[in-house]
Amino acid sequence: MKREIKVPELPEVETVRQGLAPFMEGQRIEKADIRRPNLRFDFPDNLTEHLQGRNVTALGRRSKYLLADLDDGQVLVMHLGMSGSFRVIEADETHRIAEEAFHLERGKNPKHDHVALSMSNGAVILYNDPRRFGFFDLIARPDLPEHPYFAKMGVEPVGNALSADHLAPLFATRKAPLKAVLLDQRVIAGLGNIYVCEALHRSGLDPRKPAKDLVTKSGKPSKNLQVLTEEIRTTIAEAIKAGGSTLKDHTKADGTLGYFQHSFKSYDREGQPCKKPSCKGQIERITQSGRSTFFCPSCQT
Ligand SMILES: [Zn+2]
Repeated sequence: MKREIKVPELPEVETVRQGLAPFMEGQRIEKADIRRPNLRFDFPDNLTEHLQGRNVTALGRRSKYLLADLDDGQVLVMHLGMSGSFRVIEADETHRIAEEAFHLERGKNPKHDHVALSMSNGAVILYNDPRRFGFFDLIARPDLPEHPYFAKMGVEPVGNALSADHLAPLFATRKAPLKAVLLDQRVIAGLGNIYVCEALHRSGLDPRKPAKDLVTKSGKPSKNLQVLTEEIRTTIAEAIKAGGSTLKDHTKADGTLGYFQHSFKSYDREGQPCKKPSCKGQIERITQSGRSTFFCPSCQT
């Protein structure tokens, strides 16, 4: 079986944000070294000049986009694409990049270090991306909500706006399978293949079920939709927490941020026994919208 490439999902991006924040927030970009004209897209014109001398006032995130607010009102938007990663070389640890084995080995070949930001605290932040599907952009803060990247984006999976009541009208008209609707970024932003599989497994819901079946005739969320909403929140929150604890263990050793080993209950477990207590089923893999879906036909109905 051809393995799917594990692209960074929202919990990884949030872990990256948490890892970078202490080195970026409140710091000035002394030097911006942009080493090629483009990644997935061209770098913005004069990006080096725009960045140098600017203070980073905050490092935020929306879906899988990292947002570095600059003190001139611009936002440096950074997306990891498929293979992008950051690592930090601290001033006093230049020679301490150890060869620790990571679950997902990436981000160390210096020929793929495309961006280097030297911060006023002495840290150098390197962006590495062998496949170059990531991108950097510069957008004025007030233009951000209406920018094509963000304009149609759904709610955050761990934000307060996510609720069964919010999802009910979005599900009510959709005959498409649950899996497809949950991957639709206009419904929930930043939910990817892995965590959709996991949340559906935890909810005991068949990924092939039409989304509208989770809404009552009067348009109210069903019990199933309430359970699904909570499981989405819990699944993502737990993964972010796991990322945070890995960050503590590994940042010092390696400096590569945001890739950590998860233990999944359904994802990538084709043919293995279901991990739900009392379920004797076996995880199956099917293809939906061109992506692998892993689920247990016994307890997901
Ligand atoms: Zn099961």
